[in-house]
Amino acid sequence: MFKSVLIANRGEIACRIARTAHRMGLRVIAVYSEADAGALHVRMADEAHPIGPAPATQSYLVADKIIAAARAVGAECIHPGYGFLSENAGFAEACAAAGIVFVGPPPAAIRAMGLKDRAKAAMEKTGVPVVPGYHGELQEPKFLKEKAYEIGYPVLIKAVAGGGGKGMRRVERHADFDAALEGAMREASSSFGDERVLIEKYVTAPRHIEMQVFADAHGNAIHLNERDCSLQRRHQKVIEEAPAPGMSAELRAVMGQAAVAAAKAVGYRGAGTVEFIADGASGLRPDGFWFMEMNTRLQVEHPVTEAITGLDLVEWQLRVAAGEPLPLRQEQVKIGGHAVEGRLYAEDPSRGFLPSTGKLIALQWPSAEGVRIDTGVEAGGEVTPFYDPMIAKVIAHAPTRVEALDRLAGALERSVVVGPRSNVGFLAALCRAPDFRDGHFDTGFIDRHLDSLAPKAEGLDRAAVAAAAAMLLQAEGDTIARRNGDGPQSPWDIADAFQFSGHRRMTVPLAADGEAVNAEVDYSGGLAVTVGGETPASDASVISAGDGYYVLRRGRQTRVTRRDLAVPATHSKSDGAVTAPMHGKVLAVFVDEGAHVVRGQRLAIIEAMKMEHTLTAPVDGVVETIAAAANEQVAEGATIVVIKPEV
Ligand code: ADP
Repeated sequence: MFKSVLIANRGEIACRIARTAHRMGLRVIAVYSEADAGALHVRMADEAHPIGPAPATQSYLVADKIIAAARAVGAECIHPGYGFLSENAGFAEACAAAGIVFVGPPPAAIRAMGLKDRAKAAMEKTGVPVVPGYHGELQEPKFLKEKAYEIGYPVLIKAVAGGGGKGMRRVERHADFDAALEGAMREASSSFGDERVLIEKYVTAPRHIEMQVFADAHGNAIHLNERDCSLQRRHQKVIEEAPAPGMSAELRAVMGQAAVAAAKAVGYRGAGTVEFIADGASGLRPDGFWFMEMNTRLQVEHPVTEAITGLDLVEWQLRVAAGEPLPLRQEQVKIGGHAVEGRLYAEDPSRGFLPSTGKLIALQWPSAEGVRIDTGVEAGGEVTPFYDPMIAKVIAHAPTRVEALDRLAGALERSVVVGPRSNVGFLAALCRAPDFRDGHFDTGFIDRHLDSLAPKAEGLDRAAVAAAAAMLLQAEGDTIARRNGDGPQSPWDIADAFQFSGHRRMTVPLAADGEAVNAEVDYSGGLAVTVGGETPASDASVISAGDGYYVLRRGRQTRVTRRDLAVPATHSKSDGAVTAPMHGKVLAVFVDEGAHVVRGQRLAIIEAMKMEHTLTAPVDGVVETIAAAANEQVAEGATIVVIKPEV
């Protein structure tokens, strides 16, 4: 076994690899960008080395810097985690050339599976079922459109170099094909530097079921059962579980064999995942699943497999990389109970899941039987715009599926995430959604149920604001009491910013999530606070932070501060300025100066945190200024376009 490992990654996966490596007695070497100098993965390591500025293209994605660091410290192997360089065949080769073991498959296997079109062609040859479609060389828009027609709508356009749901468009009608193709190609070219696409039949009521496979250098290849990752939003996994609901032992054997055959066909070694799309319209069946792609690395969702098999996949990866045979034979792999994982992201479900960066004011996890938390951040840490905004993976394991879902929901509801918005309430609502619990779901489940799952943007949580107002008055009263050296005071003594509005009543101006709101305080008999008629919520947690309070209630977060009467709490955008919602890159600007636009018209697209955001005109008017050009990096709040409103 190796004596040392360099982890070429960050965040939760770097921490997770470090834990196993430490347990196995390896020296753990971390690398970090400038943004991560104080990160958890750096502190967990035995030693850590800086590799450059915050953007991944200047640090975590620079193979030379990582290999130089590994050589300088004498690391015997490099574990790439997932993302970054994990599926980069050139990096795997460079490791070998430097005499360092790459913890992953041979470069040829990465290449064989790297492009979706080539992988599909190879699988067809091996007899693994593949979704009907076109995955050839010709890329003429007209030709592709004909192919789509032949395949029959709905179809899915996919980037051949794609990943993470990028460069993917579902098309329902022939008339929509051109626009969808253009969008897919643009996204593919900006994300992967390769605009080629393939077209395949869109499977209706699709379930995403993937097989964890493992192969060693001695000719052994087995599978460690399946995971169901059908709960997705924008083709990205949200909740994953193992085993898959409705999976029979017979189907598992057939799918497992197909996955192992896929791995063997490319000379695989190490951990890999063969992803299938299954037709779930009338129950899973052995002739109703097709190969989508193989991910030649450890997956984000590997913990659910670890939970039901009792195995440590990172340990297996290190053993196989060191030349050891697989520790188990196929028939020795068992399934115990059910496991579910929720991906907890810094994003705001009430605002279209917009990523939400910033400092983590508070972060607390429940400790409960059967609950595992994989995280890479701590309270005081920061979710930056440079990397994936995942805060943690919360994994629950229990004897049955329903118990595992309850356990996960409970753990999520007891988790405290303050600062950036999070999807914690959304994940808990998913775990408790009746149809999902009954096993009636496919990849469209989240979209169909979004209204009942995600909190509405409109309407302040007034009871939450009232709870914060009560705390604030209490705290200010205490401060004054301490300053005066006497007992608790009546708020009448607080001199600043109170407006008197009648006998023993007052109005306290507040800002809640940037919106101006007043708390009405009645001091006739104790301190009674209301906001818009609502009394303080009893089920809220109020957390004090700097100049205000964060209130957590029913999966929602409300930030409450005192409002300085001189400064409006919200900035009116009626001046026609259209600004960047977050740090990002301008992908396209669709209008010219002097153009007439109508309210709601598309003006520009900004890519931020791996998503495209469309900026639209707030008013009818004339484009007065264009302040940013395509490919330009812009800061949050930067003006992109100014519209002179029509009067
Ligand atoms: P990526 O590599 O970008 O993640 P995948 O090929 O793995 O793309 O597909 C991502 C998701 O898109 C799948 O999990 C599934 O939900 C959906 N999907 C892919 N192919 C099909 C298809 N032919 N029919 C229906 N849904 C599909």
